[in-house]
Amino acid sequence: MMTVSSIANGSRRRRLVAKSEREPEVEMNSKLQPVVLHLPHDSTVIPPEYRDQFMLSIEQLAAELVTMTDSHTAAIFSGITSDRLTVRCPVSRLLVDVERFADDAQEIMVARGMGVVYTQTSAGQRLRRTLRPGERDSLLERFYEPHHRRLTQAVSAALQESGTVLLLDAHSFPSRPLTYELVQDRARPDICIGTDNFHTPTAVADTFMAAFADAGFSVALNRPFAGAIVPMEFYRTNPAVHSVMVEVNRALYMNEKTGERLPCFDEVAVRVRACCVRGSTPGRKPALPRC
Ligand SMILES: [Zn+2]
Repeated sequence: MMTVSSIANGSRRRRLVAKSEREPEVEMNSKLQPVVLHLPHDSTVIPPEYRDQFMLSIEQLAAELVTMTDSHTAAIFSGITSDRLTVRCPVSRLLVDVERFADDAQEIMVARGMGVVYTQTSAGQRLRRTLRPGERDSLLERFYEPHHRRLTQAVSAALQESGTVLLLDAHSFPSRPLTYELVQDRARPDICIGTDNFHTPTAVADTFMAAFADAGFSVALNRPFAGAIVPMEFYRTNPAVHSVMVEVNRALYMNEKTGERLPCFDEVAVRVRACCVRGSTPGRKPALPRC
């Protein structure tokens, strides 16, 4: 209701150095287009008071978290903008998925038990008990609405300062399609770039595609996931709000069964960030470290 993600998938640490030690690689790039970084699916946190909603054993829930979390995406993408312009959801998507429409009637993934409040697992099993009256609204009020207020505020602040903004919607995806996903093609790229017809200028999409391709990644546009998030306040009304989704194939950087990072994690993260910096600053072509 508050946000449009139009995600077709479904919808849609170790730091290199401590954050305080590292200058943002892009914030007010060229003073033309500040970057707002959105990290909706990085968290594995389910506060204990909500544990009783989940009908999974400890082991099953841990496995589902590994499967569904965009693990380590904060570590991969952090640094492409400032903390001030970084909006990370502090709780797991299994609790509330901030990339979904709050209104189930608008959310295609409700049919898979994966609206804003999931009822099914990634394998189509029962995830949650039936919620009591008020529990769904309480989840939205506590987690969904504040998250979208933060995102809207970050975009508004950047707009006021610079007149334009690039919202970078950062995700990762499993190397094999999960049961719930709408696109079941087993051939998956290293990087998926998601776009919105109104909010992603062709030049932005092209620059991101070229940046990753030049860096040696295989890249696909809007497959297996499509769309890019835009706060409802600006959706299809403000063309100065640009948005692009970057999805990283988890096989590049983590053990998908355990969630642990691969030895080349840091190198992959540096390369992904360099590509995002280049994508968000057309004309710039930084040297890309090799993994
Ligand atoms: Zn995601």
